[in-house]
Amino acid sequence: MSILNVIIDQREGDLDVASAELIAAARPAGEVNAIVLAGAEKAQAWGARLGELGVQKVFYRAQEGTEDLFEVTDLQFIHHVVYHYSQGSVVLAHTAEGGDIAGRLAARLGSGVLTDVVALRADGSAQQSIFGDKVTITAAVGGACPVYTVRPGAVEPEENPQAGAGELCPVDFVAQEAPGARVLSFTPAVKGDRPELSQAKVVVAGGRGVGEEENFHSVLEPLADALGAAVGVTRDVVDLGHYPAQFQIGQTGATVSPDLYIGAGISGAIQHTSGMQTAGTIVVINNDEDAPIFQIADLGVVGDLFDVLPALTKEIESRR
Ligand SMILES: Cc1cc2nc3c(=O)[nH]c(=O)nc-3n(C[C@H](O)[C@H](O)[C@H](O)COP(=O)(O)OP(=O)(O)OC[C@H]3O[C@@H](n4cnc5c(N)ncnc54)[C@H](O)[C@@H]3O)c2cc1C
Repeated sequence: MSILNVIIDQREGDLDVASAELIAAARPAGEVNAIVLAGAEKAQAWGARLGELGVQKVFYRAQEGTEDLFEVTDLQFIHHVVYHYSQGSVVLAHTAEGGDIAGRLAARLGSGVLTDVVALRADGSAQQSIFGDKVTITAAVGGACPVYTVRPGAVEPEENPQAGAGELCPVDFVAQEAPGARVLSFTPAVKGDRPELSQAKVVVAGGRGVGEEENFHSVLEPLADALGAAVGVTRDVVDLGHYPAQFQIGQTGATVSPDLYIGAGISGAIQHTSGMQTAGTIVVINNDEDAPIFQIADLGVVGDLFDVLPALTKEIESRR
């Protein structure tokens, strides 16, 4: 039976939904092991939960203190485990960090890489949803250890407890310093109280039409908070410096698949819609009735977002 090594790249908290999704995505293709990047303490804390999700072996660094080079040491550690202990495919999240590791890992393992996968199959092939999710293709790559990055939200997490699952496997590993590159400090991103963007059930997104940075706080965020939603933005908003890059939705940002997406002041460029058009219900507000985003909307409001959003926020708050 083939082995799939799922990379658990979270660093804090309880084991999250994104990790459970990766495990569920890998399971149809063989036996699942996990490689935990966070270090021994977290791996031991998560071992039982990983077992409940169907992970057989949980590999982690036996020595603390080797996590300080991040992607450089992560890459070396994953390669070390796959090469010496768990030869098989590697499954990562389709995120900026996952993509960064995937390409370099595939080169080291002499195998192909498939990115933005939405389903893995028993024969090692993978489904990808391309051209803004208009076409689904099945693709396969060569090599003994193919590498896949799986789109967040594409696969539902599921329980799969098995006897002997979740076996803790500490690995002796000494990182080699990367030539010319060393991370000198690390500041965790400020997450705030809103749901994580790629996992959120409701997303309120704003585009260039929202205008100045202050308007995102005074007009967009109140609606998000009234709905318990995550905030997302377009790339133009990020490029203008009006909202942080971690909230960008689209081709070069996060892919979201919420039950409800509300987009205001967004024109609907393919590079944005490719990251949100699988949302269950799409509601858009734009003052230009010819804006392309109306073509994918379930409900479209032609109007000024500075009138519509505060009125919507007020109405929702009055009904809570
Ligand atoms: C390689 C590449 C990758 C890219 N990746 C991404 C990506 O990942 N994500 C992404 O989003 N973009 C991406 N882009 C950029 C993308 O092409 C568009 O430029 C961008 O999505 C447009 O952002 P916008 O809709 O906010 O701005 P605009 O296109 O300027 O649209 C603003 C909209 O706001 C409306 N509006 C203005 N004022 C109001 C008002 N008061 N009330 C209501 N509506 C109003 C206007 O009618 C207009 O439709 C990428 C581009 C390239 C080349």
